[in-house]
Amino acid sequence: MEELRYQVDLLNAMNTRMQADERMYRLICDSSSNAFIYFDVKHRIVRTLGQWDSFFEGVVLNDINDLSKLYPYVEEESVLDFKSMLFWEDRNEARATKIFKCNGKNRFFECEVNILYEDDLITDKIVRFKDVTKVKNQNDELTYMAYFDILTGLYNRNYFVRLLADYVRKAEEENSSVSVMFIDLDDFHSINDGMGIVIGDEIVQQFGFLLKNFISDNVIISRFNADVYCIAIYDPNPNQSPNTIFDEIQSKIKSPMRLSNGNEVVLSFCMGVAEYPDASTNALELINCAEIVMFKAKKKGRGQIQYFDAPILRDFLNNVNIENKLKEAVFNQNFQMNFQPQYYSNSKKLRGVEALIRWRDDDGKFIPPSLFIPLAEKNGTIIPIGSWIVEESIRHYSQWKAKYNADFKLSLNISAIQYRSETFVEDVLSIIKKYDVSPEDIELEITESVFIDDFNDVVEKLHLLREFGIMISLDDFGTGYSSLSYLKGLPIDTIKIDKSFVDTVTTDDNARVILDTIIYMSKKLGYEIIAEGVEMQSQFDYLLGTGCDCIQGYFFSKPLDQEGMERLLLSIQSEM
Ligand code: C2E
Ligand code: CA
Ligand code: CA
Repeated sequence: MEELRYQVDLLNAMNTRMQADERMYRLICDSSSNAFIYFDVKHRIVRTLGQWDSFFEGVVLNDINDLSKLYPYVEEESVLDFKSMLFWEDRNEARATKIFKCNGKNRFFECEVNILYEDDLITDKIVRFKDVTKVKNQNDELTYMAYFDILTGLYNRNYFVRLLADYVRKAEEENSSVSVMFIDLDDFHSINDGMGIVIGDEIVQQFGFLLKNFISDNVIISRFNADVYCIAIYDPNPNQSPNTIFDEIQSKIKSPMRLSNGNEVVLSFCMGVAEYPDASTNALELINCAEIVMFKAKKKGRGQIQYFDAPILRDFLNNVNIENKLKEAVFNQNFQMNFQPQYYSNSKKLRGVEALIRWRDDDGKFIPPSLFIPLAEKNGTIIPIGSWIVEESIRHYSQWKAKYNADFKLSLNISAIQYRSETFVEDVLSIIKKYDVSPEDIELEITESVFIDDFNDVVEKLHLLREFGIMISLDDFGTGYSSLSYLKGLPIDTIKIDKSFVDTVTTDDNARVILDTIIYMSKKLGYEIIAEGVEMQSQFDYLLGTGCDCIQGYFFSKPLDQEGMERLLLSIQSEM
């Protein structure tokens, strides 16, 4: 009797425990925003849990055969995939996921299957449905941004350069030619100033739409920036040549362009043309040559076309004697480094400084790096300049760290050409060692262009640098072709959002959506985010609100010379 009572008590206790467990599991499922199907395979029991009705309203599953009731909920073309997910039983993998689009709706859900085995037999299976509409749409938007210019829908610059490089490779193999046409609208700046940027954008857009008519299997078109477009023709022929396209565009814009505000504007443009293999055998250089001759066309007047020839390039280079000055400056080391502070948005504490090169020529004239760095990259002087920048910046940095005992990072801009040097990694490491700084405090800024030519080699070098603790940051993010999903596999710690997004963040809804998405996704992927070129309180407030980690820009500080840096570090020291 005693024994029986004990058994009953035990059973009651177990029952209560099981009910409590059951309640707990149900609560957990119901409080998530997901829906679940649970299969007890041995007893052939099927149960639905969580937010079932928000996915499959009114559908009741009594047994496994009822799963077919779910098929109409996904797009017709993915029903088979969906079915194989629901019945998925792969012994080698305990989990599988796939995204499905709902039938007739812009809604996406992720279906994840988890399986439990006992002695090689399936005992339990759980299928989870999760709404991923928001992330999917954001991803699509980023992928689009990666390849296209938002305003016109034409290719963006970086993607165009990639496609042009493919054209050039193909032309090399097939012994054919490629024409590159560089187009710039005449007097666009005065139109923009006179009519305002909204109308300016409309003109850029309408002209872009007009160019779309010329896209074909062997014609690619891109908008580079503002009112600059580039077209490439693979293997031009008399029916499809720079001249025919030039004439056709001319005739299309003869009649005035009607604008949404009722006004009309008459457009004209100049075109520079450079051809593979005559002008150059390299995609970037072809574009450069086409641009140079476009300037020559502009000199002749409005609506002109100019083909590339060698004397034009020579003239151009002679005029731009900056190249020679540059070589002298390298020889005399006529450069200086400035340092622009970066701050954590929340605490407003110093995060680090970005080293920026400064050059005054012998006449004391300031020549901006955006002008001479591309030239230095072209004529190879970037290699000695680059080494000087790394050593000079690290030398100062090491002195400051010792003198002010300050905790901050040093970011260095490294050009794509520098990565090509066999000894690049070694050189950086040896300078870090020489000045006894910690590699974790050094960050190298790269732009997406480093990946264009030698993807694998660069990725390998970046991995190596990171193994030593050096941080890698991706500069000018948003202007190039990389989408966040593409970046996922790359060895990068930080993303620097380009100034162009910050400029328009308080005025342009589209830019804001993109910026929000970039910040949201970057955070999800675990990157640190720095916004560049922040000049105004309103921009800072907005970025702080979106969770952007760090801020760089005139709002906090312009780049500082060495004295400026000493003052800054002294003031931080005295605050401590
Ligand atoms: P970057 O790497 O994107 O550098 C940021 C540029 O934005 C700097 O121009 C900086 O002075 C400027 N800037 C920062 N905050 C603001 C702001 O709030 N408003 C405005 N209007 N501008 C701001 P900088 O120094 O003229 O450099 C231009 C570009 O030249 C750099 O762009 C980088 O691509 C290149 N560069 C500069 N220094 C070096 C260097 O040491 N090595 C290499 N390889 N490139 C460099
Ligand atoms: Ca930079
Ligand atoms: Ca930048």
